[in-house]
Amino acid sequence: MAYVEVSGLRYAYGGGRDNVFNGFSLSLEKGQTAGLLGPSGSGKSTLLRLLAGLDAPLDGRIAIGGTLMAGGSVFVQPERRGVGLVFQDYALFPHMTVGQNVAFGLRGMSRPERRKVVGEMLGMVRLEDFAKRYPHELSGGQQQRAAFARALAPRPRLLLLDEPFSNLDADLKASIRRELKQLLRQTGITSILVTHDREDAEAICDTIIMMPSGDKRETVSAPEPAVVRL
Ligand code: ADP
Ligand code: MG
Repeated sequence: MAYVEVSGLRYAYGGGRDNVFNGFSLSLEKGQTAGLLGPSGSGKSTLLRLLAGLDAPLDGRIAIGGTLMAGGSVFVQPERRGVGLVFQDYALFPHMTVGQNVAFGLRGMSRPERRKVVGEMLGMVRLEDFAKRYPHELSGGQQQRAAFARALAPRPRLLLLDEPFSNLDADLKASIRRELKQLLRQTGITSILVTHDREDAEAICDTIIMMPSGDKRETVSAPEPAVVRL
């Protein structure tokens, strides 16, 4: 069985009749970094929301690391899925320091343990001197690195990145891209990077997945996405 297994997924917003997914399937191996490409409105963000547990599928199954997360009568809450998220509009909590942001997902740990992990994570993204700062005191690139640290701190089994470069200028994007690639290598974490830029995906990922797009923009109904191994 694959590490991430999505099968027969069906989903429509607000119980509407326009299905975003109509029997969608996808599988990823452990450690795979997949670039998910496709036109705007093809359901990339929706897929990540379903994987993260922010929404429940109408039908189909989602399993991560051999655990059924959604399917039948099963629905595992987002905080129990071991999924890390970096969304373009899912920024840092503005009222918390960088250190508190990174510590956010570590509530189950003892204080010293938490402090150690926060230190390690901030070191990994070279922000060890910024723990006491607030997000607005950081540059865009530093904020994005802090967001990576926050997502990785609880050691998720799956990291989901939704257009993480879209608010960055070109120079910054190039360096964040390098950092992310290195982070993914270093941690060996299974991940999905959503981007509309094929170059981003090729620079970072080992696999490209094309979201199929139907005639109707609302409808993605394909048994399997096209997978290109790089
Ligand atoms: P992508 O991330 O590939 O651009 P989305 O997953 O955001 O695509 O959207 C897939 C489809 O679902 C689109 O037709 C979009 O208009 C619709 N959609 C997305 N979010 C919502 C929402 N909150 N309510 C209703 N429809 C939505
Ligand atoms: Mg999107």
